[in-house]
Amino acid sequence: MPRPETAALISKYPARPFSYRRRTLHCDRTSLTALAAEHGTPLYVYSERHILGRLRLFQSAFAAVPHTVCFAVKANSSLALLKLLAAHRAGFDIVSGGELARVLRAARPAAKRTVFAGVGKQAPEIDAALSAGILLFNVESDSELDLIAARAQRAGIPARIALRVNPDVFASTHPYISTGLSAHKFGIDILAALALYRRAARSRWLIPTGISVHIGSQIREVEPFGAALARVRELIVQLKSDGVNLTHIDAGGGLGVEYEDLAFDPATAVRGYAAQILAATEGLGLHLLLEPGRFLVAQAGALLTTVLNVKQNGAKKFLITDAGMNDLIRPALYQAHHQILPVKQPAATQSNAPVDIVGPVCESGDFFARDRAFPAVKAGDLLAILDAGAYGMSLTSNYNTRPRPAEVLVTGAGHRLIRRRETHKDLFAPELP
Ligand SMILES: *Cc1c(COP(=O)(O)O)cnc(C)c1O
Repeated sequence: MPRPETAALISKYPARPFSYRRRTLHCDRTSLTALAAEHGTPLYVYSERHILGRLRLFQSAFAAVPHTVCFAVKANSSLALLKLLAAHRAGFDIVSGGELARVLRAARPAAKRTVFAGVGKQAPEIDAALSAGILLFNVESDSELDLIAARAQRAGIPARIALRVNPDVFASTHPYISTGLSAHKFGIDILAALALYRRAARSRWLIPTGISVHIGSQIREVEPFGAALARVRELIVQLKSDGVNLTHIDAGGGLGVEYEDLAFDPATAVRGYAAQILAATEGLGLHLLLEPGRFLVAQAGALLTTVLNVKQNGAKKFLITDAGMNDLIRPALYQAHHQILPVKQPAATQSNAPVDIVGPVCESGDFFARDRAFPAVKAGDLLAILDAGAYGMSLTSNYNTRPRPAEVLVTGAGHRLIRRRETHKDLFAPELP
């Protein structure tokens, strides 16, 4: 029988803003029962205090050098969260024209702290980024470099560029979110980059400004980050002797969190990560860009859901919830583990039994946990799926014509709805029957 992971262990989760108070799970000082009563379920709940704490951890770990923390918008693209982060000096890492529009809507002045990555940038997206005055384009291929030059000429606005190099460094993570090997579609072969920088330097419309590297996501050993930058460093030195003087180095994102390990200490993780990056870039005199996504927001958020049904199928017991894979796809897509807690704290004497916690969507892949030791719950009870703040809401869909969940931000002053629940009318709006 696996270890129970509920009541007794919750006090060991300093990495999260969720804890039991008076036998009810709270986000900071706000009761999740109260939030569910006010806004219904499924409901994403985030802690403002926790997100700002993570941002500060990052900013203070790199305080010794000029740097900008550019939050990766795809991890959680809520306008309210972007606004919050921008107000605390964050910039942004975007991968589409839609994400650019979000940054402009949330915090127009943050455009100058925004970098644009992605292997399929299109002309209208490049045009919008040029006129918004973004910090730089992270260029992923030679043909894209030419496209950016052409659009810059057309707009009469020279484009600041960095080449995203592929360092061919292995980092252990799920294969869908690993990006730093030459077998992946991302980045430019580091050996080809030199010639491409020379080409950019000759163009009137391109300003070689930086160099960037991003080796993947949910990486928990810090050495690969240092190894990737060590390779980039060689190139910077070579460029300098060629007369190409860069001003920015972008170390990408990818620092992981522990979804399972109870002893995870985020401060230690950031310090180890910063030590690698600072050592590898020491003495270069470049402005450092960092692109954390998951690390800033994953553990600040939970998906709150109601148990609809407790169903026994032969030997197997299922808890069927009102949240489904369309609301949180990580378990189905990456076989990801999420801690799940009953909102009402179980008695210490209560024993656990294995259950599958599943959604109502018509797919067998629609599950949040399998064979999980869990205390007895009944229909109507609330569950909190932890560590859902990153790649949760941003990966939702309307599959099964299910409206997306609402989102609430718990703040120092209380809490506020930052996205209302979708209606059927919202879903039908683009259709032309
Ligand atoms: C996804 C992505 C990030 C953020 O990754 P996390 O694992 O969420 O930190 C940063 N930079 C680029 C280029 C990305 O594609």
